Amino acid sequence: MMLKYYGWERKEFADCFNVGLSVCESQKANNKLARHFKHRYFEEGKLVSPKLVFSQRFNECRGTAYGQTRIKIGMRTTLGVLGHEFAHLINNRNGGVGHDKKFKRCHKKVITYIRSKNYFGMLEQYFKEETNNETQ
Ligand SMILES: [Zn+2]
Repeated sequence: MMLKYYGWERKEFADCFNVGLSVCESQKANNKLARHFKHRYFEEGKLVSPKLVFSQRFNECRGTAYGQTRIKIGMRTTLGVLGHEFAHLINNRNGGVGHDKKFKRCHKKVITYIRSKNYFGMLEQYFKEETNNETQ
């Protein structure tokens, strides 16, 4: 079931999985999603976005969402992965579980927003370009 979902999203949202993100870009995208979906919360009297935790052991395909306020991703990731995990935060807030039908709906909304914002102006094929530069 889980594997089936991953296969489906990678085909359906392939454009987003082609947009690579650095740590800084992940933060930027996270803030934009949090603001648009009104998914922010108060911490020490300040309205903040969900927290991103960057794992050096996560590759660009891996991510995990915790509850409604925390996402763990790699130092390099993609808009596809961030969108998926962000959709989990929203779905968790709505009482959803895992990759249920409600999750799919949340996920589609997140991706529609990302596309409507032209991937927040972030570069497609980011990793490929960077790799090319390294070998020159
Ligand atoms: Zn998931």
